[in-house]
Amino acid sequence: MAVADPLIELRGVNKHFGTLHVLQDIHLSVGRGEVVVVIGPSGSGKSTLCRAMNRLESVESGEILIDGEPLPEEGKALARLRAEVGMVFQSFNLFAHKTVLANVSLAQMKVRKRKRDEADRRSRELLERVGLAAHAEKYPSQLSGGQQQRVAIARALAMDPKALLFDEPTSALDPEMINEVLEVMRQLARDGMTMVVVTHEMGFARSAANRVVFMADGRIVEDRAPEDFFTAPNSERARDFLSKIL
Ligand code: ADP
Ligand code: MG
Repeated sequence: MAVADPLIELRGVNKHFGTLHVLQDIHLSVGRGEVVVVIGPSGSGKSTLCRAMNRLESVESGEILIDGEPLPEEGKALARLRAEVGMVFQSFNLFAHKTVLANVSLAQMKVRKRKRDEADRRSRELLERVGLAAHAEKYPSQLSGGQQQRVAIARALAMDPKALLFDEPTSALDPEMINEVLEVMRQLARDGMTMVVVTHEMGFARSAANRVVFMADGRIVEDRAPEDFFTAPNSERARDFLSKIL
């Protein structure tokens, strides 16, 4: 789907794992301030797509542009551009031996070259924003899974990214913790953050997404407004998928 002011653009992106054509001629634009939810069966290439967007995964052909700039192959330029596109994973990957505050401050000092005071100040603001101001001095193991994931979101926000990618951010959580994380994400969306979200949470897709991208077998099969997609999917693949999860 064409968008007015693309922040992330993939043009004809292809990738194989051995003989598996995991990304097949992917064209995708994510507009500034847009929330794009990516859904599809397991193994369809959703994680690979996300990882390609900040070169955690290399691609063989096609172009990836972030805010109009081609994603560099490697080196300092890549590190700089990568910081513009934050990523939140299913497994929160917090440092177990560091406090919540230190977890959020670390990359700010390393990548954004902030002094500790400045980084900690920003970290406390962001912990406040995700509802965890009171937990700054705790260690990850003292927090619930939902709280740890909110720390991971604060950590990603601390880099002042232009966009955030979420790869199944609630899949590892107990059911009662899913909503607190989705609520933080809904708030980010309302605040205008550009987001690509791989999720099986169809309620979130319906209520927060501007567009739903449905992937199957390495291809984007549908790319449409959520109300259209959920009420009348065009493809047999999507109908089949929806009938299994809804
Ligand atoms: P999804 O996130 O939609 O479940 P993935 O992008 O993780 O799908 O994986 C797509 C396909 O690529 C799967 O068949 C998976 O087994 C395969 N795959 C993913 N990562 C690798 C890898 N590093 N090496 C080989 N195959 C991989
Ligand atoms: Mg995945």
